[in-house]
Amino acid sequence: MKNYHSYSEIRSDLDLGIVSCEDIVNHHLAVIQAKNPLINAFLEVFSVEALLQAKAIDKKIKNGSAGRLAGLVVGIKDLFCFSGHQLTCASKILEGFESQITATCIERLLTEDAIVIGRQNCDEFAMGSSNENSAYGITRNPIDESTVPGGSSGASAAAVAADMCQVSIGSDTGGSVRQPASFCGIVGLKPTYSRISRYGLTAYASSFDCVGVLSKSVEDAQLVLDVMAGHDPRDSTSSKKPALPSHEEQRANKKIVFFKELSSASGCTQEIKESFSNFRQQLTEQGHEVVEMSFPYLDYLLPIYYILTSAEASANLSRYDGVRYGKRVGGAEVLEQMYKRTRTEGFGEEVLRRIILGTFVLSSSYQDAFYTKAQKARRLVKDFTANILENHDFIVMPTTPTTAFKIGEKSEDPLEMYLSDIFTVQASVSGLPAISIPYGADKSGLPIGMQIISGAFEEHKLLHFADRLMITQTV
Ligand code: GLN
Repeated sequence: MKNYHSYSEIRSDLDLGIVSCEDIVNHHLAVIQAKNPLINAFLEVFSVEALLQAKAIDKKIKNGSAGRLAGLVVGIKDLFCFSGHQLTCASKILEGFESQITATCIERLLTEDAIVIGRQNCDEFAMGSSNENSAYGITRNPIDESTVPGGSSGASAAAVAADMCQVSIGSDTGGSVRQPASFCGIVGLKPTYSRISRYGLTAYASSFDCVGVLSKSVEDAQLVLDVMAGHDPRDSTSSKKPALPSHEEQRANKKIVFFKELSSASGCTQEIKESFSNFRQQLTEQGHEVVEMSFPYLDYLLPIYYILTSAEASANLSRYDGVRYGKRVGGAEVLEQMYKRTRTEGFGEEVLRRIILGTFVLSSSYQDAFYTKAQKARRLVKDFTANILENHDFIVMPTTPTTAFKIGEKSEDPLEMYLSDIFTVQASVSGLPAISIPYGADKSGLPIGMQIISGAFEEHKLLHFADRLMITQTV
């Protein structure tokens, strides 16, 4: 089967009868069968179900009643509830748990006739930057199998890059869609916080969590965003703002900001710096106004992010107590002992670390010193960033300070691992939409990604701009 870059190409072939949904599903199943044993992107493949659905949608295409996403083969990060299917969040603590509900975002895709092909691996409860924190084995980067695919939606990115599915649905709390997209050479979109309902997405840090899209093209990211976005009465934080039509956005010269502190950011490789300077040059040559500004809070971003998300995680993960979900360790004499044993055995090291850290920063003696202070600092960053975007169109920066690193290279050093989120957390702390697009490769052929951040609810403007950039790159 031909390698489709975007859903619109698939759809036109489907409508012309050149290909069928069944062919497409069979193609992806064959790729999964060939590549998954090594890559380990899928924890479970819904082969029978996906084929049945494909046949039903083929009929709908013939009689003209097919939805907007007919035949779009989607993989879902194993953090989304899908009724009647297992949900593990890549954790032992949820072993054997089956979802009772379907996440709103998944339900909306299904209503438009997308086909869900399986559950994808990830870092346990979405905590990680390399997909190495999974209870079900690491995922490898298909571009170079000795490297990580990024995280926490690493497997979702690997699956798209390896053509195991056309699009993946991931979650992005501090970069989990953008960073793996960058490592695997694909597009990763994190919308504005609240743009897509979080109903049915397992909570990690509720004031940061966003549903995101990983795709081969910006066009697909937009299409899937449009279907998933919009208010949902089951998530009271979901926004009621209507989406803006993209055609209103004309190609015009934009005012673009970059931060001078980036050039000295610790851990950023020379190659990424050079690539970012070429990127700026390209923007200038295209007639955009590229302005250098100072960002005084760079060093505070990671502490703000890790203090607040750990605090929220410690509260969110208290529900896994051996009573309500999944695993329970037996043999305890009293209730508290059962809680302790279940949680100690059920959670992996990184999740335990964050629960302990989160509990510490929320404890009465330290709350003011850490949690409250981090909240205040978050406000400063948010206001500072929003202010810039009131007078400028975009902020640009590399998505990651390095390209994909070797498996095992950072897994023993959590602080080193946290540093890989240095460029993605600003948009998360500020609740703003951001996209990572592929931008060439380093000397070893590993993909580099550039990140563009826009004002809140300006996804269409952002996507239109990103799409133009990707087109001019390939011309
Ligand atoms: N790497 C970051 C973390 O470990 C981001 C994770 C995410 O966005 N889910 O928290």
